[in-house]
Amino acid sequence: MERARALTPGCEQVLHLNHAGASLLPQPVLDAVVGHLQLESQIGGYEAAEAAAPQVERTYASIAELIGAGPDEIALLDSATRAWNMAMHSLPIEPQDRVLISRAEYGSNAIALLQLQKRTGCQLVLVEDDEHGQIDLEALERALADDDTALVSLVHVPTQGGLVNPAVEVGRLCREAGVLFVLDACQSTGQMPLDVDELGCAVLTATGRKFLRGPRGTGFLYMRRDLIPHIEPVMLDLHAATWTAADQYEVREDARRFEMWEHDVATRIGLGVAVDHALGWGLDAIAERNTSLADGVRTRLSAIPGVTVRDQGEQRCAITTFTVDGLGAEAVKACLRAEGANVSVTTAVSAQLDLPRRGLDAVVRASVHYVTTEEELDRFATLVSAIARA
Ligand SMILES: *Cc1c(COP(=O)(O)O)cnc(C)c1O
Repeated sequence: MERARALTPGCEQVLHLNHAGASLLPQPVLDAVVGHLQLESQIGGYEAAEAAAPQVERTYASIAELIGAGPDEIALLDSATRAWNMAMHSLPIEPQDRVLISRAEYGSNAIALLQLQKRTGCQLVLVEDDEHGQIDLEALERALADDDTALVSLVHVPTQGGLVNPAVEVGRLCREAGVLFVLDACQSTGQMPLDVDELGCAVLTATGRKFLRGPRGTGFLYMRRDLIPHIEPVMLDLHAATWTAADQYEVREDARRFEMWEHDVATRIGLGVAVDHALGWGLDAIAERNTSLADGVRTRLSAIPGVTVRDQGEQRCAITTFTVDGLGAEAVKACLRAEGANVSVTTAVSAQLDLPRRGLDAVVRASVHYVTTEEELDRFATLVSAIARA
């Protein structure tokens, strides 16, 4: 703990409970990014990229290790949304196809799915939640039995709550039904162990800046090896494909067919360093510590009059959401910010299928990570008590 905090300069500055928004960079990540920018300024961007090629390759290998994949199954993109969109808009969806979604669906994904529906004529089918507020596996099984079901889109950990959807069970059901499983692992990556074989997903997407503690402007896409040759990306460039003759091109063999030639080399290196940092602590250890810290947040907040914890789910994670009676979520966030504490707000426009149905227009989100201390949680509870009393 002391070592983790010493390697995180931001710990000295703020009470940061916004790791689900963007975590605090570890010093080695910061050094790697700044170091590469300096190299670019000294020897030139192309030359610096050549010199750093092994570090960039290392990023693919590290991400592959993190999720139990092969480096050839990984593409680096500038966000999780870009990664998810690249995959989703490239998959072969036909007019009669049914695409199953859940109430945890993320705003950007939902917009893209509506666009997909408009473009292809496919049908979006909502699979209801169970009594715990997570995807109902029996309802999913029934929906999968329809022969026109082509794909299941699931958010592993929704942005607006502390629950963990039963992704392994969803993957098993999809596998049995022979249906593509696309997993948005944006909020689970970096806070718990993930294994794509166990998850049974065809596609997995994640961002760099959240629990992975990488730089902003980074994300990645995993696509299962056997699928890649059959999925031509909606957009290609001269990195994703080769212009082989005046009227011909060949798409590259690996997942990098979903990338673009131009990219930020410094942040790609930084992302790899962040993944190595997480692997260094161990994802099991991170998950264990985070679960206990987040339980500590929920216990403290539940004891404050006028504060309601809004988390659902059987299995919970590092994210906690709550509301304060008589005070809007943005106002709570602003009061905390004025006291040096960072949280974020999730509004209905990010979670249309979930928050309005629960009678909520917004929730305050406090997200811990392994660098958070019990002492910080006490201070946080004191701050929230004062806000709730005012
Ligand atoms: C943050 C988030 C995203 C989007 O990630 P970006 O890197 O900002 O595109 C997608 N899904 C979920 C569940 C998220 O929380």
